[in-house]
Amino acid sequence: MNDCIFCKIIKGEIPSQKVYDSPTLLAFKDIHPVSPVHILIIPKKHIPSLSDAAAADQALLGEMLLAAKNIASEKELSDYRIIINNGRGSGQTVFHIHLHLLSGRLFTWPPG
Ligand code: AMP
Ligand code: ZN
Repeated sequence: MNDCIFCKIIKGEIPSQKVYDSPTLLAFKDIHPVSPVHILIIPKKHIPSLSDAAAADQALLGEMLLAAKNIASEKELSDYRIIINNGRGSGQTVFHIHLHLLSGRLFTWPPG
Protein backbone atom coordinates (compact mmCIF):
# COMPACT_ATOMS: atom_id res chain seq x y z
CA MET A 1 0.00 0.00 0.00
CA ASN A 2 1.40 3.39 -1.05
CA ASP A 3 0.44 5.34 2.04
CA CYS A 4 1.18 2.61 4.60
CA ILE A 5 3.94 3.61 7.00
CA PHE A 6 4.95 0.01 7.70
CA CYS A 7 5.12 -0.82 3.97
CA LYS A 8 7.45 2.20 3.68
CA ILE A 9 9.60 0.80 6.49
CA ILE A 10 9.72 -2.58 4.66
CA LYS A 11 10.81 -0.79 1.46
CA GLY A 12 13.44 1.18 3.39
CA GLU A 13 11.77 4.52 2.61
CA ILE A 14 11.40 5.22 6.35
CA PRO A 15 14.25 4.26 8.71
CA SER A 16 13.76 1.71 11.46
CA GLN A 17 15.82 -0.04 14.08
CA LYS A 18 15.61 -3.57 12.75
CA VAL A 19 15.69 -6.50 15.12
CA TYR A 20 14.87 -9.33 12.70
CA ASP A 21 14.50 -9.60 8.94
CA SER A 22 13.34 -12.59 6.90
CA PRO A 23 11.82 -13.02 3.44
CA THR A 24 8.34 -12.85 4.98
CA LEU A 25 8.71 -10.83 8.20
CA LEU A 26 10.34 -7.73 9.64
CA ALA A 27 10.75 -6.82 13.31
CA PHE A 28 11.88 -3.41 14.53
CA LYS A 29 11.81 -1.24 17.63
CA ASP A 30 8.66 0.76 18.28
CA ILE A 31 9.29 4.50 17.89
CA HIS A 32 7.21 5.29 21.00
CA PRO A 33 8.02 2.41 23.37
CA VAL A 34 5.58 1.73 26.21
CA SER A 35 7.99 -0.64 27.94
CA PRO A 36 11.80 -1.03 28.06
CA VAL A 37 11.50 -3.65 25.31
CA HIS A 38 8.89 -2.80 22.67
CA ILE A 39 9.33 -4.54 19.33
CA LEU A 40 6.89 -4.72 16.44
CA ILE A 41 6.73 -7.86 14.30
CA ILE A 42 5.08 -7.37 10.94
CA PRO A 43 4.55 -9.45 7.81
CA LYS A 44 6.00 -8.05 4.58
CA LYS A 45 2.61 -8.72 3.02
CA HIS A 46 0.23 -5.81 3.61
CA ILE A 47 -2.70 -7.10 5.65
CA PRO A 48 -4.55 -4.15 7.28
CA SER A 49 -5.64 -5.93 10.45
CA LEU A 50 -6.22 -9.36 11.95
CA SER A 51 -9.84 -9.11 10.77
CA ASP A 52 -8.53 -9.03 7.21
CA ALA A 53 -6.37 -12.14 7.57
CA ALA A 54 -7.52 -15.16 5.55
CA ALA A 55 -7.05 -18.91 5.89
CA ALA A 56 -4.20 -18.56 3.39
CA ASP A 57 -2.39 -16.37 5.94
CA GLN A 58 -2.36 -19.09 8.59
CA ALA A 59 1.34 -19.91 8.19
CA LEU A 60 2.29 -16.24 8.13
CA LEU A 61 0.39 -15.57 11.35
CA GLY A 62 2.14 -18.53 12.95
CA GLU A 63 5.50 -17.23 11.76
CA MET A 64 4.81 -13.90 13.48
CA LEU A 65 4.16 -15.59 16.79
CA LEU A 66 7.21 -17.82 16.52
CA ALA A 67 9.38 -14.85 15.56
CA ALA A 68 8.19 -13.07 18.71
CA LYS A 69 9.08 -16.09 20.80
CA ASN A 70 12.51 -16.41 19.13
CA ILE A 71 13.29 -12.71 19.62
CA ALA A 72 12.24 -12.98 23.27
CA SER A 73 14.43 -16.06 23.64
CA GLU A 74 17.46 -14.36 22.02
CA LYS A 75 17.03 -11.41 24.35
CA GLU A 76 16.63 -13.80 27.29
CA LEU A 77 13.23 -12.38 28.16
CA SER A 78 11.31 -14.80 30.33
CA ASP A 79 8.27 -12.61 30.96
CA TYR A 80 6.72 -10.71 28.10
CA ARG A 81 3.39 -9.75 26.61
CA ILE A 82 2.25 -10.15 23.00
CA ILE A 83 -0.48 -7.82 21.77
CA ILE A 84 -2.40 -7.41 18.52
CA ASN A 85 -4.70 -4.39 18.46
CA ASN A 86 -7.55 -4.90 16.00
CA GLY A 87 -9.58 -1.84 15.06
CA ARG A 88 -9.46 1.77 16.26
CA GLY A 89 -11.45 1.02 19.42
CA SER A 90 -8.78 -1.43 20.54
CA GLY A 91 -6.00 1.08 20.02
CA GLN A 92 -4.91 0.17 16.49
CA THR A 93 -3.39 3.21 14.81
CA VAL A 94 -1.36 1.64 12.00
CA PHE A 95 -3.41 -0.44 9.61
CA HIS A 96 -0.76 -2.98 8.65
CA ILE A 97 -1.11 -5.99 10.93
CA HIS A 98 1.56 -6.14 13.63
CA LEU A 99 2.31 -7.91 16.82
CA HIS A 100 3.69 -5.96 19.79
CA LEU A 101 6.33 -7.71 21.89
CA LEU A 102 6.52 -5.92 25.26
CA SER A 103 8.87 -6.71 28.11
CA GLY A 104 11.08 -5.22 30.80
CA ARG A 105 8.46 -4.08 33.28
CA LEU A 106 5.55 -5.45 35.27
CA PHE A 107 2.27 -5.77 33.37
CA THR A 108 -1.09 -5.74 35.08
CA TRP A 109 -4.17 -7.75 34.21
CA PRO A 110 -6.64 -6.94 32.79
CA PRO A 111 -4.96 -4.56 30.33
CA GLY A 112 -6.31 -1.02 30.26
P1 AMP B 1 -1.03 0.11 17.07
O1 AMP B 1 -1.45 1.28 17.92
O2 AMP B 1 -1.32 -1.24 17.65
O3 AMP B 1 -1.55 0.24 15.66
O4 AMP B 1 0.54 0.17 17.01
C1 AMP B 1 1.24 0.99 16.10
C2 AMP B 1 2.59 1.20 16.69
O5 AMP B 1 3.46 1.67 15.65
C3 AMP B 1 2.63 2.28 17.79
O6 AMP B 1 3.09 1.68 19.01
C4 AMP B 1 3.59 3.33 17.24
O7 AMP B 1 4.41 3.88 18.24
C5 AMP B 1 4.38 2.53 16.22
N1 AMP B 1 4.97 3.30 15.14
C6 AMP B 1 4.36 4.23 14.37
N2 AMP B 1 5.23 4.72 13.46
C7 AMP B 1 6.40 4.07 13.65
C8 AMP B 1 7.68 4.12 13.05
N3 AMP B 1 7.95 4.94 12.02
N4 AMP B 1 8.67 3.33 13.51
C9 AMP B 1 8.42 2.49 14.56
N5 AMP B 1 7.23 2.38 15.17
C10 AMP B 1 6.23 3.16 14.74
ZN1 ZN C 1 1.42 -1.91 4.76
